[in-house]
Amino acid sequence: MPELPEVETTRRGIEPHIINQTIKNIAVRQRSLRWPIPKQLEQKARNQKIESVERRGKYLLLRLHTGTIILHLGMSGSLRICTANTPAEKHDHVDFVFGNNKILRLRDPRRFGAVLWTTKDPEKHKLLSPLGPEPLEDSFNGKYLFEHSRKRTASIKSLIMNSHIVVGVGNIYACESLYIAGINPKRKSGSLSLARCEKLVSAIKHVLAESIEQGGTTLRDFIRENGEPGYFAQKLFVYGRAGEPCSNCGKPIKQIKQQQRSTFYCARCQK
Ligand SMILES: [Zn+2]
Repeated sequence: MPELPEVETTRRGIEPHIINQTIKNIAVRQRSLRWPIPKQLEQKARNQKIESVERRGKYLLLRLHTGTIILHLGMSGSLRICTANTPAEKHDHVDFVFGNNKILRLRDPRRFGAVLWTTKDPEKHKLLSPLGPEPLEDSFNGKYLFEHSRKRTASIKSLIMNSHIVVGVGNIYACESLYIAGINPKRKSGSLSLARCEKLVSAIKHVLAESIEQGGTTLRDFIRENGEPGYFAQKLFVYGRAGEPCSNCGKPIKQIKQQQRSTFYCARCQK
């Protein structure tokens, strides 16, 4: 599933190709994504310029003069840039065709993605308005996490994965950040000191920023005409390493289930 770093990498990859370009046409081959693609989208967006390519959480926002196209990659979606004569394959559901002879193409085999249209401030859209702060922005800091975790009995792992608290901390990033901060994923959120909240926030920022940076090295893949876009595998300390020795203390990494998701951690290093 594309996580925040992949979505940000996608944003950076497509932006130079479509910014200030005029949408000549939108070819929709499959309307039934997670929600149906609005019928008026083609007509509303046609002949408008892409004024900016932004990201909020895992949503991409293509801002036009009269509204905003909201894109989500769902479970299996990807976007890439190709030239206008590139034949569409089976799961290539939507093409945004630009005046510069380029196409922004959405491929989504499992069809959990979304292409929506709003004329309002997209921050007020019902999908975006409940979202917590961006993890890399200053408003997400140790004090914020400390205040929002008081009296909470939920595990700290589930708290940082809650998009109302902070967006974009997927399962892999949650496991890795908790390891770096030395915090047991099962610990009750309300029991963390301010200092440990600060440590955790800084670990989350570090893990996400590093992942985005690594994604940046694969940006050229967005203009590849075939194949998958440049998602990437990060060097991981605990995730997917059950039974392997902890790189700090050598004790085997443990795997447990929390909220139906696998958690990996070191019982000696994470308290
Ligand atoms: Zn350890």
